[in-house]
Amino acid sequence: MAPSKTRYEFGGPLGAAAIMVGLPLLFNVLYLTCNDKTGCPAPILLTPRELTWEKLKSQIPLPQDGIRGFASWEVTGWLLTYYMFSMILFVALPAQTVTGTKLRESGRCLPYKFNSAFSSTLVQLVIAAVGTYIQGSKFVVWMFITDNYLQLLTASLILSFGISIWVYARSFGVKPGNRDLRELAVNGHTGNVIYDFFIGRELNPRVTLPVFGEIDVKTWLEMRPALTSWILLNLAFVAKQHRNYGRISNSILLTTAMQTYYALEGQYFEEGLLRMMDVTTDGLGFMLTFGNITLVPFLYSTQCRYLAVYPVDLSTPAVAAIGAVYALGLYIFRAANDQKLRFRMQPDHPSVRGLPYLQTKRGTKLLTGGWWGMSRHMNYLGDWIQAIPFSISTGLAGYLILPASLAGASPEAMVMADGRVVVQGAAKGWGMIFTYAYVFWFGILLIHREGRDTAACAEKYGDDWEKYKKIVRWKIIPGIY
Ligand code: NDP
Repeated sequence: MAPSKTRYEFGGPLGAAAIMVGLPLLFNVLYLTCNDKTGCPAPILLTPRELTWEKLKSQIPLPQDGIRGFASWEVTGWLLTYYMFSMILFVALPAQTVTGTKLRESGRCLPYKFNSAFSSTLVQLVIAAVGTYIQGSKFVVWMFITDNYLQLLTASLILSFGISIWVYARSFGVKPGNRDLRELAVNGHTGNVIYDFFIGRELNPRVTLPVFGEIDVKTWLEMRPALTSWILLNLAFVAKQHRNYGRISNSILLTTAMQTYYALEGQYFEEGLLRMMDVTTDGLGFMLTFGNITLVPFLYSTQCRYLAVYPVDLSTPAVAAIGAVYALGLYIFRAANDQKLRFRMQPDHPSVRGLPYLQTKRGTKLLTGGWWGMSRHMNYLGDWIQAIPFSISTGLAGYLILPASLAGASPEAMVMADGRVVVQGAAKGWGMIFTYAYVFWFGILLIHREGRDTAACAEKYGDDWEKYKKIVRWKIIPGIY
């Protein structure tokens, strides 16, 4: 069995509890306070001195039937149907078997069934394209997503908790030396229920279902519902913008295109997941389950949700600049990740053969040149740079929604199909709290992730890691951090 650790991360059990209570609440707050009823943010938030619950309540899209309206059996049923469909595609589409990295306890490797995540998304996009061709922006799936966003969020939260409880309970079936190669995550079984539930006890939970066969729960969740539903949510908001204004702005098209490419590329190179910390080190608990199936689709699609109500028309130079930043980030991200992969898998390849490295006592080599000589995580820097354009497309975000009678009140006013008027007014800039939350959060995630990886490497490599840190001084940004 992996040794039980008490080196807590995320502020230990208290921090984990705060995250598990706080994040679901925050996601609801983000939706309610940046809304398509009164504004982004809701106007009363701009004058905090006048803020009362009654006023706020009247400006946020609370369900008609109170707290019960946050959830819906029907919407939850459709979300589960969507997961089931994704599972059917997982079984039906051709895929190949790939061998995972060596497991810590047994030294053996698990097989994984890849790469049908990409083709599975393509099938879903083709269905959506046919539906959109027939029904236009009123395609039933797009309408369903935007009309039931809050209930979908609740269903996704319930599912995140449900899966986390299930994998936590099942993890107690992991026995040393079992034939199924089940293992506990090194940092996931401290004995503290709250912490272990959050961080994930079992490293590689798998389930064998009738008809569907064996499914590796973690990689399945990470690659399929998480990334595909992000794309679908974005497209639903593109359709909503079209219903609102009868046109599609270049900003929402650009954001959707960049994010879709990011998600599809991840799915196309699905195998790369096997070398990520998520698969090699972290157990499956609330952190990864919520992060994958709720945080990714619902936070990452915020920009398109915003642009559906406030279309931004970017100038051609702005489109070119945003595209260039994205391409730069993408290039660094991919080049750094590919270099490490090639160095490890094909050390004689001409592109990596001459690069300097540190031979460790553990047997593996650490690159000290190329991208990995500039900083210890240039791949994180590239990933963050490519995330900036997602938010920048929303500009100095913020809008107010005024009654139809005020149409023409301001030259910048935009009139929606239902007659309501959208202006930036006093909200200008304040909407950035919502539309830039992603890039801010992602920066924190990557800094925190770098710390976690460094701690793991210090443990794996001991003195060699200290030597490596002296050669490669910078953590993420050369010369700065
Ligand atoms: P990395 O791909 O950076 O892998 C870190 C591991 O690589 C270390 O544990 C070590 O493992 C090995 N390593 C470290 N330094 C070197 C070196 N100099 N030479 C050779 N090997 C080295 O980490 P992640 O798994 O965190 O990230 C993978 C990608 O996923 C990143 O590009 C990240 O940006 C992205 N990502 C995206 C997220 C999103 O939400 N969009 C979320 C999280 C990650 P060992 O030596 O044992 O092989």
